[in-house]
Amino acid sequence: MDIIHLLPDSVANQIAAGEVIQRPASCLKELVENSLDAGATRIQVIVRDAGRTLLQVIDNGIGMSEMDARLAFERHATSKIREAQDLFTLRTMGFRGEALPSICAVSQVEMMTRRAEDETGTLIEIHGSDVVRQEPCSCPVGTNIKVSNLFFNVPVRRKFLKTDQTELRNLLTEFYHIVLVYPKVNFTFVHNDEILLELPAGTEKQRIEAVFGNPKRNAFTSAFVDVHTETELVSIRGFVIKPENATRKAEQYFFVNGRYMRHPYFQKAVMTAYSGMLTADYQPSFFIYFDISPESIDVNIHPTKTEIKFADEQAIFQILMAAVREALGKFTLAPTIDFDTRGAIDIPMPATDRVSRPQVAVDPTYNPFHTRGTIYPDKAPKSWESLYEAPQSSRNIDIPVSRNIDIPEFRDAEMPLWQYKGKYIFLPGEEGLTMIHQHRAHVTVLYHRFLDQMAHSQGASQQLLFPEVISLSPDEMVLVGQIAEELRTIGFELEQLSPDSYSIQGVPSQIAAQSPVPVLQQILSSVRERGADTRAEWREQIALSLAQSAAIPVGKSLNEKEMRELVSSLMQIPTHRITPDGKTVLSLLSNEEIEKKF
Ligand code: ADP
Ligand code: MG
Repeated sequence: MDIIHLLPDSVANQIAAGEVIQRPASCLKELVENSLDAGATRIQVIVRDAGRTLLQVIDNGIGMSEMDARLAFERHATSKIREAQDLFTLRTMGFRGEALPSICAVSQVEMMTRRAEDETGTLIEIHGSDVVRQEPCSCPVGTNIKVSNLFFNVPVRRKFLKTDQTELRNLLTEFYHIVLVYPKVNFTFVHNDEILLELPAGTEKQRIEAVFGNPKRNAFTSAFVDVHTETELVSIRGFVIKPENATRKAEQYFFVNGRYMRHPYFQKAVMTAYSGMLTADYQPSFFIYFDISPESIDVNIHPTKTEIKFADEQAIFQILMAAVREALGKFTLAPTIDFDTRGAIDIPMPATDRVSRPQVAVDPTYNPFHTRGTIYPDKAPKSWESLYEAPQSSRNIDIPVSRNIDIPEFRDAEMPLWQYKGKYIFLPGEEGLTMIHQHRAHVTVLYHRFLDQMAHSQGASQQLLFPEVISLSPDEMVLVGQIAEELRTIGFELEQLSPDSYSIQGVPSQIAAQSPVPVLQQILSSVRERGADTRAEWREQIALSLAQSAAIPVGKSLNEKEMRELVSSLMQIPTHRITPDGKTVLSLLSNEEIEKKF
């Protein structure tokens, strides 16, 4: 008997659906992209229960004929490419003709659609790939598609969905990626009858403001400078934050030809442009839009992936870095400073309402009088201190802890120890000289302390004399609700003020001396970025982020007692050699290595 047979379409579609539609957010993305491809200028998104129960997208695009309405749900049916050649010149969002068949394979779809030239529209209803109804209907021009009970027939998938709050955050994140590149399209996003976002058509800047700004203060985008550069290879425009406005929580977005992308390598280009301008832990926010000929990028990758390959990444890296530097150079006071190659100079900054003023250092290799588009090689001599540090690029990569370093000798309280450069603690011992990174050591100690306090609900809270207000975006509001209990156990006292703000009334006592808003923002962004999704993971992220905020900063001088306390607390932690996020805390300069130097 032959055993090979073709899978029925419904099964094939369900399998493929697993690839394209992994969660409500991927379904939303496909639907909204279809509306955009159909030329819609107004798109409404209506969601119920984070998309589990309902995801509805209503557009005023070109609509479909009766025939097309049916064909749209067939695999590989697309109006967007005809030949393989077209793949290389793609300008539409979709092209695979996979989305609708995948969605209808795992949900109940009802669609009404009408073209301007048709008098009646078409209503079609499909349950798990079976067409259960198709009839003429009266409806406005455009398409109204309702996806109900996603994964109703794939229990495993349904079970793997995260909490409603997480799925809602995923929906919003996906939505941001789209709305930020289509500022001329009017969007609304409604969840459980509540309007979360209402975005009128406008410029890119207005759109960014509408999504991330605070409607009352309207100040988000004024913290940015424009980036603009035009070369044969690529054109780049967008907005980068002024160094003084950087916070611990950054919004970092790249778009290419109208599509969101992640690009760690280009992100590094931006970070390099800021080097020396930001205080440790502060991150620049940016919104950067690339325009490039479609032939030189590869979008024909997996539909759910946001990485895009460029043919000429190194050249674009240089162009991008130079453009961002130029934008920042125009804004900073750098030209009035004499370029001193001895190292960093503190530039007087306008007073801001932030408690700690970022330290601004001048990059000696940067010359704002260079002509536009010049590429600045990174060769100029740096101060010797910078040679001592691990290069920026490798800092997050695990620096191998080559030897088993412990400090058994430290039991001896008489042992000498001293602080070096306000940054390291040096301890001579039997095997050599142990060097401890003081900030990281303290992060490690505090992290474990915070975790412990959360586990026992023992976080000490300090009331603020003047409660502070933190304004949040819709996805952050959801997140705060989600991790409220963890925040409370560590000492935060929060009260919701309005649909987009909280008042901070109490803070963990360890950070009482700091401005609470950036600390809380930092917590939210680290929870969000790590995709933490369980209570345990939330605690870890909160503890780490708080520890980073509360730890003694680099440059703080410590007295002997403080150093001894820090070292002995560190030694009590079994994993004291690396920070919870994998950075080296201890390093040994062995006797051998010292000998070799002479
Ligand atoms: P793709 O977008 O890759 O072509 P889809 O499965 O997402 O594949 O959609 C199939 C086809 O259905 C599209 O090519 C388009 O012709 C039509 N279509 C889907 N959604 C809409 C819409 N909102 N308005 C008009 N046509 C649509
Ligand atoms: Mg599509």
